[in-house]
Amino acid sequence: MKFKDEIVLITGASNGIGRKLALSYASEGAAVITCDIDEEHGRQLVGEIRDQGGSGYFYRCDVSQPEQIKQLMTTITHEIGVISILINNAGISRFKSMFDQSDTEWDEILNTNLRSVYLFSKHAAARWKEKQLHGRIVNMASTRAFMSEPDSEGYAASKGGIIALTHALAASLAQYKIRVNSISPGWIQTNHYDELRAKDHHQHLSKRVGSPQDITKACFYLTDEENDFVTAENLVIDGGMTRKMVYEH
Ligand code: NAP
Repeated sequence: MKFKDEIVLITGASNGIGRKLALSYASEGAAVITCDIDEEHGRQLVGEIRDQGGSGYFYRCDVSQPEQIKQLMTTITHEIGVISILINNAGISRFKSMFDQSDTEWDEILNTNLRSVYLFSKHAAARWKEKQLHGRIVNMASTRAFMSEPDSEGYAASKGGIIALTHALAASLAQYKIRVNSISPGWIQTNHYDELRAKDHHQHLSKRVGSPQDITKACFYLTDEENDFVTAENLVIDGGMTRKMVYEH
């Protein structure tokens, strides 16, 4: 029970990586609070956590809306308590030619993926500062912060922004012993893993595509109270893809 006394808030946890994170922290004894726009899967997940004897809560929150974030943080503090770990996981990937993308669509990506990370961190850190708690934040970036395919400007900018925001927050919050790190996942297959092709796996140095469990392990490392020498860091979990040269011989 590595996280027995922790209260963990995970955004965008109804599906994919966040869902696995929620189940994993709950099975290590944490009280897990999830928020998402997908209520149906969020409530199912919390039911699953409780069926397994864990402690889980779901709140609906659109993380692109500052008022909803503020309200959610107040509600959590009143109904459950002050969180100790924040995982800013919610994100949308929208790939579209810049010639077709409206300003509103650009704002939606940046507000969902990047501004939310800043706002959740600010609200959590204000409580930790007041109560002198040494909270930990993990932000979900992407290897697309460093490498690109065409038509991904909004997503790439949001993820690059998360990496810069992470070290800026780590610097500002160090005086309160609050640690802030990020994870940059590469290709993480969140469903139908069995349907991947051999070439999907073999293009990785690791010879396999990643799974949510790979991200959970990184997150456990970064949020472990004992690892208090690790802050302002970005962990790339991508099976070596961003280190691989692509010259053809
Ligand atoms: P996912 O399966 O799409 O799950 C993301 C969850 O966030 C979904 O439940 C989604 O709801 C929710 N969400 C979307 N917009 C939201 C909003 N405005 N407010 C609250 N919740 C919202 O994504 P994932 O693949 O697990 O990715 C999780 C994080 O890892 C993201 O930040 C992503 O950018 C990052 N990442 C993933 C990979 C990968 O290969 N999977 C690689 C690099 C980085 P709906 O389903 O209803 O939209």
